[in-house]
Amino acid sequence: MSTTAIQKPVINPYEAALENFDLAADALELDENVRAMIKYPERILSVSVPVRMDGGNIVRFEGYRVQHSTSRGPSKGGIRFHPNVTLDEVKALATWMTWKCAVVNIPFGGAKGGVTCNPKRMSMGELERLTRRYASAILPMIGPERDIPAPDVYTTPQIMAWIMDTFSMNMGYPVMGVVTGKPISLGGSLGRNEATGRGCYYTVLSSCRHLNIPVKGARVAVQGFGNAGSLAANLLHTAEAPVIAASDSTAAIYNRHGLDIPALIQYKERTGSLRGFPEAETISPEELLAMDCEILIPAALENAITEENASAVGARIVAEAANGPVTPEADRILDRKGVFLIPDILCNAGGVTVSYFEWVQDENHLFWDEQDVNSRLEKVMTRAFNDVLKIHLERKASMRLAANMLGISRVADANRIRGLYP
Ligand code: GLU
Repeated sequence: MSTTAIQKPVINPYEAALENFDLAADALELDENVRAMIKYPERILSVSVPVRMDGGNIVRFEGYRVQHSTSRGPSKGGIRFHPNVTLDEVKALATWMTWKCAVVNIPFGGAKGGVTCNPKRMSMGELERLTRRYASAILPMIGPERDIPAPDVYTTPQIMAWIMDTFSMNMGYPVMGVVTGKPISLGGSLGRNEATGRGCYYTVLSSCRHLNIPVKGARVAVQGFGNAGSLAANLLHTAEAPVIAASDSTAAIYNRHGLDIPALIQYKERTGSLRGFPEAETISPEELLAMDCEILIPAALENAITEENASAVGARIVAEAANGPVTPEADRILDRKGVFLIPDILCNAGGVTVSYFEWVQDENHLFWDEQDVNSRLEKVMTRAFNDVLKIHLERKASMRLAANMLGISRVADANRIRGLYP
């Protein structure tokens, strides 16, 4: 049966973010005055990014930086380079960063940036020129005390290094703390590269403990095999939870005995995709999401699980390593099915948590060893998980609602105490 004839409705992630805010604000019985102050982005910048391509022609790209909140500290959040980037997507991602930083209780507000481009089709030179021009355009908005970018979808430590260099050249002195997720040789933190996957792994362990599911032998399916998805898969594989299915933007693959994840990571590094990996059969992306398993990890983009496919989800736990992979309507369906959801602002908060550690190390010019980073991360993630679980159990709220209630109430408190200027 062909599905190409039916156009799926486009779900606007910013509308989803606002809907989830309202649900949590209602549950908290939040004052209308406070709502008005914390719901919307504080600052939005839209920039034109002209880049000279290798052929000599100039292509103009659209870029954005959105600062959603600085109530609890400087704003913080990644930069996404992807063909589907829109202003509303960046606004949604910035909003989620605010609640995320509050859930793990680190002293940041939320921000996000993005450039609508396809880095997979650009040379290193083009990518560097794009990055430096975009960094120059958002330069007045960023800085270690203002707003601190980091990697997100299709941005890398090398790209962070170029942003750090562009900012520093303009200031006249090196400013390590202006971005996180940098290479180690440039003031990056040990453990930052795998922090999102590791944080996700800790929340999965906590969920298994809560639900009495043994991790050893728990079957895992991972949608998206980028930084977060591949590293979460690798940690679960090491814990003897077989990863039976994985997908990226080119292919979905399956092996009922469990995929050899270290070999799969190497294969993807070598060939650029999961397609053709030996000792696995090809399945459809929909089959992956409907996989009969204990743990499903959507680790790609927004709107992976919608009202169209949520009822087919076969997992007991859905761990949102991506931002916004489950729509509000799908949330309700999963909830009715009794699926245990680890919401994005908790599940993938390991990345920004170690970004915070990186910023602290840069500001202090004193660096920690990897074990120190990982054990601090585990402490933060486990505490945040327990804080959210407590609200989930006491208030009989879904895990999504509970996490939003926790994050939003912390931002509301900071806002109330600071008061309204002038
Ligand atoms: N882009 C990541 C996120 O969505 C990390 C942000 C950061 O480290 O600032 O959480």
